[in-house]
Amino acid sequence: MFIQFFNHTIKIQLKGEEMPIENKNRSAAEDASLAAAEESRQTEWTSKSLMREMFLGNFDVSLCYPFPEQDPADAKIGDEYCAKVEEWCKKEIDGEEIDRTETIPAHVWRGMKRLNLLAIKIPKEYGGLGMSQQNYMRILSGIAKHCGSVAATLSAHQSIGVPQPIKLAGTKEQKEKWLPKFAEGWVSAFGLTEESAGSDPATMKTTATEQEDGSWLLNGEKLWCTNSIVADVIVVMAVSGKKTSKSGREFSEISAFILEMDTPGVDLLHRCEFMGIKAIENGLIRFTDARVPAENLIGGRGNGLKLALSTLNDGRLSIPAISADGAKEALEFSTRWAKTRSQWGRTIGKHEPGADKLSKIASSAYAMSALSDYCAALSGQGKDIRLEAASAKKWNTEELWTVADIALQLRGGRGYEKGSSLEVRGENPFPYERALRDSRINRIVEGTTDVMNLFVARECLDFHLSNAAPLFSSKTPIGEKLATVFKCATIYAPWTLGLFAPSFTKSFSQFHPKLRPWLRKVDGYSKKLAFQTFKNMVLLGPKLETRQLFMGRTVDITVDLSTMALSASRVQTEIDRSGSEENLETVLYFLRATSLRVEQTFRALSDSKNCDAAARKLATSLLEKSELLPNPDTSHLTGYEPADREYGKDLTSGKIHRRKREIERNFKLPSGMSDEAVEAQEEGAAK
Ligand SMILES: Cc1cc2nc3c(=O)[nH]c(=O)nc-3n(C[C@H](O)[C@H](O)[C@H](O)COP(=O)(O)OP(=O)(O)OC[C@H]3O[C@@H](n4cnc5c(N)ncnc54)[C@H](O)[C@@H]3O)c2cc1C
Repeated sequence: MFIQFFNHTIKIQLKGEEMPIENKNRSAAEDASLAAAEESRQTEWTSKSLMREMFLGNFDVSLCYPFPEQDPADAKIGDEYCAKVEEWCKKEIDGEEIDRTETIPAHVWRGMKRLNLLAIKIPKEYGGLGMSQQNYMRILSGIAKHCGSVAATLSAHQSIGVPQPIKLAGTKEQKEKWLPKFAEGWVSAFGLTEESAGSDPATMKTTATEQEDGSWLLNGEKLWCTNSIVADVIVVMAVSGKKTSKSGREFSEISAFILEMDTPGVDLLHRCEFMGIKAIENGLIRFTDARVPAENLIGGRGNGLKLALSTLNDGRLSIPAISADGAKEALEFSTRWAKTRSQWGRTIGKHEPGADKLSKIASSAYAMSALSDYCAALSGQGKDIRLEAASAKKWNTEELWTVADIALQLRGGRGYEKGSSLEVRGENPFPYERALRDSRINRIVEGTTDVMNLFVARECLDFHLSNAAPLFSSKTPIGEKLATVFKCATIYAPWTLGLFAPSFTKSFSQFHPKLRPWLRKVDGYSKKLAFQTFKNMVLLGPKLETRQLFMGRTVDITVDLSTMALSASRVQTEIDRSGSEENLETVLYFLRATSLRVEQTFRALSDSKNCDAAARKLATSLLEKSELLPNPDTSHLTGYEPADREYGKDLTSGKIHRRKREIERNFKLPSGMSDEAVEAQEEGAAK
């Protein structure tokens, strides 16, 4: 959701407040946004990162081989719970009906509570399931296969909603007060985005004003807050004052508050409607002197943004996991379809374009899963996952979009037809059109792809910036500049020499002979990438900051190379453990295809082989000629009547038995059961 070019872990002491490179061409607004971003950034690396090393020309295979697997005891807990949840999904979740009525029905909310799905990662001592990050991701992915809206609801509630920031930075009292409520069926949300503050939180306008008794008054509006329409409680980010960086830049101080949604002065203005995940309860909220008690400030004054971003380190892992499982599903069905459907005398999988599509789906699904599982394992080991998690979010969501589009195309007209319509005609109702619509949002929320590129690029460049930044600042005294030049010479001379060490000397002897040449290629590409980036950094200096397409391509190469390494490592680990070469061909295809893509991206790094300058020129003239849009206006919105409000705890506890929209839109209960039958079944299951 929002800014992702910074990150932070609460446990870590933040050092700097300075922007790495001074740039006189920045506007004051750009300066303020960057100051807020840098201030919230985690400055220290607590463990080595595969991707960071890859970017710096050091492909360290020990960081991914043997491929880290889930602890078997933990996996068993996950297997058992996933089976239980799958049984519930099959019986009670009708994804097509939920999509048609744009409503998660009351019986599904009750099921969420019965299975304790609103408290998956909450420790058992507070009534939660106490699941690991890996099992949490597995449970959400299992639900997403049935319904994207239910999965998004659960994810917004606990990947970023109130439970996670409280777990990370809440006091003992806050944990004791709030965490048990989620096991009792309370629903939460996360409010950061505003009309003016999308990817850039520095433009946030919602204010929190401290009162004499220590409480706070909230004023402002929050946009697109998932779950807010039914939430009992939300975490709100608001401007609580001003901060000044060491270099004198002023920016907003942002704090995080727990707000109960029935507080006077909290109005739901509008339930937003979207192209996919149509049943999420996402809204526009207004605060008018909404009072928050002093004890509801989380993580201390001014730490709101850092908290939001640390929440996202793990929070961001759900979407890549859901995407990877979505691709696996698409593969399974597409393969059966390509084998069954025959046109022009051949099954469509045997026509060359069909074979190409199947191979693309299969290899992407394998690599997405390798990347997502790798991140989950690192998270379980408490490693620094900021780069890998952000890259997985970006890479898996982009790949899933491509996979969903290819799979729909392979299915032809049936891919475009709704699952429910296919079912009426007696055909297999695999819902490609819904999957495509639902998956589109993943490239936007929790950091858009472009913003993920900025974040990953910033983290990758950290080595260079922390060594050479003083050289780019006009305020650096000459003595310090000379000292920096000397320091850089001692660091960069051996580093640059290392980049010319030939890759063929690396044997990768622990790998299958067919994998070794590809790993040598990864090594060579990694060195080439490091050199090209360094060269451009020196040539462009502060201008590099605006060359986002160039930096985006270096990020693309880094992530592609890392997925090549991870896929090779995973398949080799499978061979080591079971002797099975079942996935070797898939991985070899992936290595070949991705290596071709990497070469293309390398070519486009050169300005003579890309259109970047032409794009800047054309966009400038288009922007000059066009008119501004009118300012958005919400003043006509007055909000829901209290009688129209539904609260999560009432839905999950059964106090609201049927939702208004269920009745209005004639929601059909799965398998034609009556309300009473569903209730009786629920009671039986609860016993
Ligand atoms: C269905 C849905 C659910 C959501 N749920 C939540 C929620 O629960 N809580 C919450 O707080 N928010 C939520 N959001 C908001 C979501 O996180 C934002 O949409 C997202 O952060 C992007 O902000 P924006 O839409 O304002 O786009 P903008 O930031 O205006 O971006 C528009 C375009 O410009 C690009 N762009 C922006 N900045 C840069 C840059 N510096 N360099 C290059 N390109 C740039 C973006 O990549 C994008 O393509 C939700 C949104 C949707 C649609």
